Amino acid sequence: MTLALCFHHVTPIGGEHATVPERFHDHLNELRRAGFGFVDFDTFSRTRLSGRRLPRRTVLVTTDDGYADNWYWAWPVLRDLGVPSVFFVITGSIGDGSIRNVAYEGTRVVVPDHEGGDGRFMRWSELRALHRTGLVSVQSHTHLHTRRVGADDKEKLRVLGEDISTSCERIETEVGLRPLALAWPWGQSSARTRSLACELGLHMQFTVTPGGIGPWSSSRLMSRLCADERDTAWLLDQARRITAPLIGDAYSIARVCWNLARQAHTRRIGTAAGAA
Ligand SMILES: [Zn+2]
Repeated sequence: MTLALCFHHVTPIGGEHATVPERFHDHLNELRRAGFGFVDFDTFSRTRLSGRRLPRRTVLVTTDDGYADNWYWAWPVLRDLGVPSVFFVITGSIGDGSIRNVAYEGTRVVVPDHEGGDGRFMRWSELRALHRTGLVSVQSHTHLHTRRVGADDKEKLRVLGEDISTSCERIETEVGLRPLALAWPWGQSSARTRSLACELGLHMQFTVTPGGIGPWSSSRLMSRLCADERDTAWLLDQARRITAPLIGDAYSIARVCWNLARQAHTRRIGTAAGAA
């Protein structure tokens, strides 16, 4: 059973959808001390696609959106602990320009350069540098991060297909590797959008429903546990619960069923509203 974690901001400012760097460090360090192992995206995807199993206490670390603080603050923690991760980036928000300073090098604290009009998000130069380390895999979080409303009609699917294709092309052009995974914005997807993404080569798709990823999980709808704003004790408790034999499987299957039922209900409401 694999536990995929989802983070957004990693910044000392804290706030909504944020983890302070010290806590981010503690999360990863304590998971390792508790016997969890971290998997890189290549190993994770190759193992899943070949139908083999990963060890029970395996963790896949992911971040969403591609915020600049992931470069300033999350990366030095990942680098120093040697933890691999996946950065799901909104390709339409990633900026150009040279590499900026990270927050610290070893024990030397440096001042991050927060200047520039694209200061909220990372730059392609920084993503290329991360990709070259072999510790970070750059994957898609769509190009424009548009919220889905209502049912998926033909026009919406066409627009979504263009958006996902643009995102894949930008990553391939800028980083040099075509993405294989997609994190759905707000975890919102449907059977039709998941099929569409699969046709575009994104065979590994992630949502934000808490749960584990087992051999029975669909690679088009893989759970992630959002750990923003949470403390380390909560995270360890969740990690143990989700990866526990039998209990973790039952919990994860129930959460996936609940998520599918909720999405079907939302689509029915959207269709009814569209017909009204
Ligand atoms: Zn997002």
